[in-house]
Amino acid sequence: MGLAAGALSRADGQTASGKVGYCVIGLGEIAKHFMAGVQQSEHCAITGVVSGDRAKAERIAAQIGVPKESIYSYADMERMRENRAIDAVYVALPNSMHAEYTIRSAKAGKHVLCEKPMATTVAEAEQMIAACKAAHVKLMIAYRCQYEPLNLEAIQMIRSGAIGEVQSIESAFGFNIQKGVWRTDKKLAGGGSLYDVGIYSLNATRYLTGEEPTEFRAFVSTRDHDGRFDQMEENVSWVTRFPSGILASCSTTYGADMPGFFRVNGSKGWVEMGPAFSYEGLRLRASLADKQEIDKTNPEKDPKQFEREADHMAECIRTNRTPKTAGEEGLRDMRHMAAIYAAAVDRPEIKRAAGA
Ligand code: NAD
Repeated sequence: MGLAAGALSRADGQTASGKVGYCVIGLGEIAKHFMAGVQQSEHCAITGVVSGDRAKAERIAAQIGVPKESIYSYADMERMRENRAIDAVYVALPNSMHAEYTIRSAKAGKHVLCEKPMATTVAEAEQMIAACKAAHVKLMIAYRCQYEPLNLEAIQMIRSGAIGEVQSIESAFGFNIQKGVWRTDKKLAGGGSLYDVGIYSLNATRYLTGEEPTEFRAFVSTRDHDGRFDQMEENVSWVTRFPSGILASCSTTYGADMPGFFRVNGSKGWVEMGPAFSYEGLRLRASLADKQEIDKTNPEKDPKQFEREADHMAECIRTNRTPKTAGEEGLRDMRHMAAIYAAAVDRPEIKRAAGA
C-alpha cells in the first residue's frame, strides 16, 4: 500500500499490487496516452482520477479498473489524502492550472508528475517547487523526450565527441492550430506555441549541449488574422548563444505543420533527429568523425514513452531519488521562455537599422 499522507517518508510508495499508484488529474488527450503507458507498466498503476465530468470519469475508471471511491472532482480532490493507493498525481490540465493542482496535490501529501510547460509564469514555477519541498513530495516535469532512447543516444554521441566540437543547432516544432481551443486562450495557455511545442526545441538545445543559454535574440509575428491569434502571436523564432559559443536557432508556430526536428552541426560530423519529439516513429541520422553513417528508427510504439516517464517517477519514489527532470528543470525552461519573449519585444534600434 502507498504510505498515508503525513507519514514520515513517502520514499517507498506502492499499491497493494506492489506498484506505485498514480491519480490522473484532467482526462483529456495527453492523459489517454499516459494512462495507456501506465497500464502496460510493471511498476505503476492508475489508482485514481480527477475530472469535472463525473460520467466521463466513471466510464474511464471502469475501463481501467479504478474504484468509484477513487474518482474525485476538482473541488473535492483533497480527499485523496486519505487514499493509500494513490502515491502520486499526474497533472494533465491546461497550463494555467498546473500550479494550483500541483500545489494542492503536494499539500494532500502526493508526489507530482506535471505536464509541460510547468506553469505559465516563473513565479508559479517557483511556488510549485517550494510547495513540493515543504510537503516532502517529489516534483517531476513530464519531459518524455529526456527518457527516449534515440534522444539519449544523440546526447551520448555529442558528449563522446563523435561529431567533434558542436558549432550550431537548428530545431523547429509547430502545427496549424484550430480556432477556439484553450491553447489560443492566453489565460489558460499562458503563451503561444512556444509554451506548447517550441519548448521541445528549447529543452532539446539544452539537453543536447548540456549547457544553459546565456543570451537570446527573438522575433514574433502573426500573419493570419482569422481570430486564432487575437491573444497571442502566431510565430516565434529565436537564436541562442550557449557559454561554449554553440549557437542554436529555433522556430515554432501555430500557423503551419512543422514536425519536430533538430540538427546538431559539429566540426567532424552531424547528428539529426526528425521526427525528434513525436510519440513514435522517431528517427536518428548521423555522420560521425570515424566515418560511420547512422540511420535508425526507434521501433517502440506509443505509449512506450509515457510508460518510461511514469516508470522513472515511480523508481524515484521507491528509491527516494530526485527525478532527472525535476521542478528545477521546468523552472529553467520557464525562465528561458520569459527571456525569449522579452527579447522579442519591439526593439527600436533594429527598426531604425532596417530603415523602418
Ligand atoms: P486537452 O484539452 O485534451 O485536455 C485538457 C483536460 O483538462 C480536459 O480533460 C479538460 O476537460 C480539462 N479541463 C479542466 N478545466 C479546463 C478548462 N478550464 N479549459 C479546458 N480544459 C479544462 O489538453 P491536452 O492536450 O491533454 O494538454 C494538457 C496538458 O498536457 C497541457 O499542459 C499540454 O501542454 C500538455 N501536453 C503534453 C504533451 C506531451 O507530449 N508531453 C502532449 C500534449 C499536451
